[in-house]
Amino acid sequence: MVSPSISSFADLALNPLIIKALSQVGYEQPSPIQAASIPPLLEGKDLLGVAQTGTGKTAAFALPLLTNIDVLQESPQVLVLAPTRELTIQVAEAFKKYAQNLKGFHVLPIYGGQDMGGQLRQLQRGVHIVVGTPGRIMDHLRRKSLNLDKLKTVVLDEADEMLRMGFIDDVEWILDHTPKGRQVALFSATMPPPIKRVADRYLVNPTEVRIESSTTTVEAIEQAYVQARNDQKLDALTRILEVEAFDGMMIFVRTKNATVELAEKLEARGYSAAALNGDMTQALRERTVANLKKEKIDILVATDVAARGVDVPRITHVVNYDVPYDTDSYVHRIGRTGRAGRTGKAVLFVTPREMYMLRSIEKATRGEIPPMKIPSSKEVADQRVTAFKQQIKDVLVSDELSLDFFEGIVSDFCLENACTAEQMAATLAYMMQKARPLQISEKELKHDQFAFNQDQGRGDRGDRGRRDEGRDGRGRRERGAREEGRGRRDEGRGKRDDSRSAGDRPERKRRDSEPRQARPESDVPMVKYRLEVGKHHNITAGDIVGAIANEAGLEGQYINNLRMFDDYSTVDLPEGMPKDLYRHLQKVKVKSQPINISQFDGADSSGDDAPARKPRSGGRDFGSRDKAPRSSSRDRDSGSSEGDRPIMRRKPSGDRKPRENSRNRD
Ligand code: ADP
Ligand code: MG
Repeated sequence: MVSPSISSFADLALNPLIIKALSQVGYEQPSPIQAASIPPLLEGKDLLGVAQTGTGKTAAFALPLLTNIDVLQESPQVLVLAPTRELTIQVAEAFKKYAQNLKGFHVLPIYGGQDMGGQLRQLQRGVHIVVGTPGRIMDHLRRKSLNLDKLKTVVLDEADEMLRMGFIDDVEWILDHTPKGRQVALFSATMPPPIKRVADRYLVNPTEVRIESSTTTVEAIEQAYVQARNDQKLDALTRILEVEAFDGMMIFVRTKNATVELAEKLEARGYSAAALNGDMTQALRERTVANLKKEKIDILVATDVAARGVDVPRITHVVNYDVPYDTDSYVHRIGRTGRAGRTGKAVLFVTPREMYMLRSIEKATRGEIPPMKIPSSKEVADQRVTAFKQQIKDVLVSDELSLDFFEGIVSDFCLENACTAEQMAATLAYMMQKARPLQISEKELKHDQFAFNQDQGRGDRGDRGRRDEGRDGRGRRERGAREEGRGRRDEGRGKRDDSRSAGDRPERKRRDSEPRQARPESDVPMVKYRLEVGKHHNITAGDIVGAIANEAGLEGQYINNLRMFDDYSTVDLPEGMPKDLYRHLQKVKVKSQPINISQFDGADSSGDDAPARKPRSGGRDFGSRDKAPRSSSRDRDSGSSEGDRPIMRRKPSGDRKPRENSRNRD
């Protein structure tokens, strides 16, 4: 749980209308980064905030900056720079949410690919806050359609991401075009040297806020994680509930609204669940916890605040439905189980973007958290059949019950309707299972989103699991690569066209010469690699993907944009490949041909002898590097925090030899 020194929002000198909005959206208390950042930002100080994804950085700057806004002054007072269009929209939406009670407030998201005319009109009409991607903001500055004379604050959100995407020069250019004396807040999950340099150059006496974590061990608790997007969580949870034998359970979510919503959904699915949140009176909260003790309810859906001090020995399971803000909070949450000398189980849900948090929790708790297999609908149905049979057996063998009367009904019925007792029993079974079907439809089987995944993610599973999933992984990869390829190209073109249409190129050009850093839909930063195997080696795409999937223990969705040329291929893999895995992959062979992986550093479209282009001078950020010496991005980026590399992991078996990998997916 968050440390006790953290105040409530009401203690933070925020505009009361904003505090009211927070209660409307269901926030109960500030996250650690918010508690630490809001006071200095309110005072107008510069700020350097380092914290991982999901720690609540948006509100950390949005709330104080909104408080400091003059709504009557209709020219931009705050400029937020964010790396992608999605994040731009997200941040603008967050501002809207927090400002829902501020009359006449306007925030405008600005990004490439969006209709310019609309943006211009909205800018003319007057906005208080602009959130944009660097390229588009530069365009508007050059066209003078964005006037920053009245600007009070610039926020660099996800600065390391902007660096990774090659925007850092643009960011500096924009900063150079803002009024002297403006407040600057820089938020980043990591602090690689180029970001540190930007901070040194543009922040004046900044307050530094770092959300770091202490280490603890949690022995009596078996832990597992489930990677699921937000829209998959409920389905994943209900399946876990079906197959896990639990007594009492606590499920943690972020907001009070979510406690109520999720408790209701679980109730509707036949579980006895209740919400526990800070809006409830102390008496009601105590009664609810007592109900869990007395087994009147089995599941509590709680926020961190409300769960404080809950000590119920029958809690066998803790589910982190929403990721905690920090590792301390994680340790506190899962400490609700495994009490009084019993063992407990803790399940952590992480979205693909939050995999970093998983890694730092592993570090803080000094242990590896394995992935949990989400049961397929088939397994869920099998489990229901087993439970159904058990239910019948329990009644059948009970000494206290006499079934004579009912047997009479059965034989009468069978006589009257000329049916067998089996037919009648089947009818009864059918009638009983309507709420929780014992049989799954073909459609359900086909569309089972959890039929294949979850078992592989980081390669620490047995061989069978991996092979089973190779097939699916490939299917998804191909789909993913296709969609992504299209999306990325369009986006890239959009950006470049924009800057051209603006007339003059920016003084400092974007580094087109650098390897493009693609991102799969899962939002994991990717790096392009070159493999020394190609069409001439009589190798198929499937061979390569299979080899990488198996050897790197990598899920198909993380193997992207495979392109095969005559003598080599290129492929995008998640950034931050561990060194030993990289060395291992160099030796892996496909059809006797060593793949000899290396970081790709040239154009990938012009065939075999495309010259490796030179990195720009001072190629100081990610992605620019000569071909020799070959090294993984991991080496180069040693300045950044080491904690955030979760997706790829070397298989634990130390004795693995590189092996032939021509056909290992089936
Ligand atoms: P980050 O920028 O650090 O990745 P976000 O600002 O996107 O994190 O916040 C992550 C999620 O946490 C969002 O869904 C947000 O609504 C939620 N959140 C942020 N602060 C709080 C809070 N104080 N209480 C409850 N939920 C919060
Ligand atoms: Mg953010």
